[in-house]
Amino acid sequence: MRFSDTGYYIESYVKCGNCGVLVYDEGVKSSRADLAAETFCSDWCVSWKDQKAAGVADPRIKAG
Ligand SMILES: [Zn+2]
Repeated sequence: MRFSDTGYYIESYVKCGNCGVLVYDEGVKSSRADLAAETFCSDWCVSWKDQKAAGVADPRIKAG
């Protein structure tokens, strides 16, 4: 593990491209090319942003 949950080994502060929480590990990447530069905290945030980018006004993503 490069990072710990307590944040002692954070090399940079990366924020989720959707909800803005700090991402302590490598995070989750979107498969969309136009979102490739963004890092997300969870699959949920990737799915939400993917749908937004695809033109869905009010994305509904199942939790978990
Ligand atoms: Zn997020």
